[in-house]
Amino acid sequence: MSPFSFCFDSKACKDCGGKCCTGESGYIFASISELEKIALFLQIPFNDFLLRYVKKVGYRFSLIEKKINHEYACIFFDTEHQCCSIYEVRPKQCRDFPFWEIYLDEKNLPQLLKECKGVKRKEKPLE
Ligand code: SF4
Repeated sequence: MSPFSFCFDSKACKDCGGKCCTGESGYIFASISELEKIALFLQIPFNDFLLRYVKKVGYRFSLIEKKINHEYACIFFDTEHQCCSIYEVRPKQCRDFPFWEIYLDEKNLPQLLKECKGVKRKEKPLE
């Protein structure tokens, strides 16, 4: 059984406008092999890709962001079509959303429910 107290319907992503790729500034962590896949997908030499799109955060790597109005978006968020431009090779962090460890904690759930309309609280079984 899922340890999460919510379920998720990915059909909601179609007209959501990429709320999980935009908003407050954050990190889009990716492993070296994920970064290599993205560089290959974009047909950019790996070193150039790192210089242009990646920043080091401690011992990890994150895709950089761009500023849109008063918010931030992942550098690969396509603002015109409101979707991920590297969807096929997006990092695990993106593929796993909204099933992130922080959302195992009930106190973070209201924020998630506000941000993602595909997320619905599971009904508690009647006792
Ligand atoms: S890689 Fe794609 S899915 Fe992940 S945050 Fe960036 S635009 Fe969104």
